Amino acid sequence: MGHSLRSSTLVPRGFVVYNTAIDDGVMLIAIRPASTASLCPICGTRSERIHSRYQRRLADLPLVGKPVRLVIDARRFHCDAVLCGRRIFTERFDGDVLAPSSRRTARLDHIVHHLGLALGGRPAATSAKRLMLPVSVRGRNTT
Ligand SMILES: [Zn+2]
Repeated sequence: MGHSLRSSTLVPRGFVVYNTAIDDGVMLIAIRPASTASLCPICGTRSERIHSRYQRRLADLPLVGKPVRLVIDARRFHCDAVLCGRRIFTERFDGDVLAPSSRRTARLDHIVHHLGLALGGRPAATSAKRLMLPVSVRGRNTT
């Protein structure tokens, strides 16, 4: 075969896997950004000075028949630019990978979006459930 499956190929680009676990049938993949710095969203200044860390949990594509949650070790940085009004900012990720405040990865969101367009409402939710894709129906999670 010649190809090996590395854990880094399973997660969105720009992230590194540092732990995996299965909790109540859900595969948890702990990842952190590969970069050591982030750009202030207000002034664009690069910062490596970390203020704090927090975790984001996002749904991702299912893997080997199990729903997947990415547990991201996200960071807040200091902005040291003198004229910038933002002292602390949350790091942003590539919008094609993880949109700000999103509860699922962009690749999962893309599939759910197109399922919704193709099938609409309840049929889309049923298909998503069969595919083990986490979607909300009237504000309730299906997984
Ligand atoms: Zn700034």
